[in-house]
Amino acid sequence: TRSEITYFGAGPAAMPTDILEKAAQALVDYEGTGLGIAEHSHRSALAAKIIEETKADLSTYLDIPDDYEIIFMQGGGSGEFSATVYNLVGAWVTRKQQAGADEEALRKLVAEELKVDYLVTGSWSLKAYQEACRLLGSEHVNLATDARTINEGKFGKIPGESTWKLSKNPAMVYYCDNETVDGVEFPKFPDVLAPAADGSGPIVIADMSSNILSRKVPVKNYSAIFFGAQKNLGVTGITVAVVKKTLLPPSCPQPAPALLRQLGLPIGPIVLSYETIAKNNSLYNTLSIFDVYVAGQVLKKLLATYPDRVDGQQAVADKKAALIYGALEKRPDVYRIVPDKTVRSRMNICFRVTGDDTDASEKSFLDASKKLGLEGLKGHRSVGGIRVSNYNSIPLEGAERLVKFLDEFGKA
Ligand code: PMP
Repeated sequence: TRSEITYFGAGPAAMPTDILEKAAQALVDYEGTGLGIAEHSHRSALAAKIIEETKADLSTYLDIPDDYEIIFMQGGGSGEFSATVYNLVGAWVTRKQQAGADEEALRKLVAEELKVDYLVTGSWSLKAYQEACRLLGSEHVNLATDARTINEGKFGKIPGESTWKLSKNPAMVYYCDNETVDGVEFPKFPDVLAPAADGSGPIVIADMSSNILSRKVPVKNYSAIFFGAQKNLGVTGITVAVVKKTLLPPSCPQPAPALLRQLGLPIGPIVLSYETIAKNNSLYNTLSIFDVYVAGQVLKKLLATYPDRVDGQQAVADKKAALIYGALEKRPDVYRIVPDKTVRSRMNICFRVTGDDTDASEKSFLDASKKLGLEGLKGHRSVGGIRVSNYNSIPLEGAERLVKFLDEFGKA
């Protein structure tokens, strides 16, 4: 049964049972209206209230400044790989126009200067980089660092900032804060990307799909962050983008499609336009209000549990991760932690079970853990091994059960 299982899956991830029970009821009859939350119009007053409250609670929890817009999008994290390219390249063109460039000058600037920079530190930033190459052409995409080059072709380290080859004035610098597959997390915001005292600095975009809500985010350092809901926020189906208002009208309207066409730059689908979604309060087209409702319930529970908001959750996440890594480090003869200690993810804990035959050892590890109700521990199919996804919904007792198993399996 559900109460006997601790589910460490990487996403979709475990959800708090009380929230699912409440959501199940809301699906049948939302607040005595006789209609379920997935049946009510996305343009109804109650839908508007759910959207507004969820945005406000997210702002409160993460301390998002007023000069950022929160939008709910569709298309998942992968959709945002494309959205970031379309929106940030568009903003680059608009800025050049605002600085006085006419079409002729723009054509020259595109050919000579247009770059988007990527820090590739794992499978998801690699996918985002590949999407940028596909949409823009690789001549406009700068691989500022590739972590595999310092680790025998594998992910697991983050190259020192001094080795990053950043472009002079890129349309954005993109990175993934927590690499879900490879278990690599940036320990903090990169120093070389920090804004100057007057707020000027590189345009930084981050994918926070798998560590959002688990630690403090210096939001003001970013032009945009995005995250799919299906790990720490709620159920699969919506993606949140937190976008600095200077990227939106009136400061920065997107260029006309005809101009982009003239310049040979890609024109994004309207549903991936930050401007369009923001202007319509996330209701340009039919949004799953159920998904927003569930995310809202998760945020309300976090706010009720932790008076000091994300700091409180961060302390618990750090504690759980320290317990699990501690148990692994105690048995280096049995467990080999994959990423370098300095960049270990607190959310996705990746390790190998060693032995004469690693595959057989890992199979017996998975079989034995499953018998105890510890599930979802198989690593991503592209890298193998074991992965413990230590998201917010894993209670401390769940992490302790796993630690007990790690000790016992290690001794056997
Ligand atoms: N970024 C990260 C860090 C992810 O972990 C994932 C999915 N696990 C994605 C992006 C892609 O998200 P989606 O499957 O919603 O497209």
